[in-house]
Amino acid sequence: MASSPDYDVIIVGGGPVGLMLGNLLGRKNLNTLLIEKTAVPPAESMAIGVTPPSLDLFQMS
Ligand SMILES: Cc1cc2nc3c(=O)[nH]c(=O)nc-3n(C[C@H](O)[C@H](O)[C@H](O)COP(=O)(O)OP(=O)(O)OC[C@H]3O[C@@H](n4cnc5c(N)ncnc54)[C@H](O)[C@@H]3O)c2cc1C
Repeated sequence: MASSPDYDVIIVGGGPVGLMLGNLLGRKNLNTLLIEKTAVPPAESMAIGVTPPSLDLFQMS
């Protein structure tokens, strides 16, 4: 018989969506594991700016 799970949520992918989701779940005190397949961050930036809808989300959270 398996014991209780160690995590409430497992997120696969540490991109912006996974990281944001992990932060929001953490704020709700949910024990979250985030799994990312790449060991190193991208060499080049993947963003030149943050769009207004994203800023609204950051402000709400
Ligand atoms: C050159 C470039 C410039 C950009 N500039 C902007 C910008 O200026 N502003 C903006 O708002 N957006 C920009 N974007 C878009 C933005 O990068 C994407 O919208 C955003 O990265 C999508 O986030 P995501 O978390 O959905 O996916 P991703 O960023 O693709 O993240 C998914 C993650 O999941 C991981 N993964 C996949 N499969 C697995 C698996 N089986 N197990 C574990 N991990 C896994 C991947 O390695 C990756 O790290 C740009 C994109 C590019 C390519």
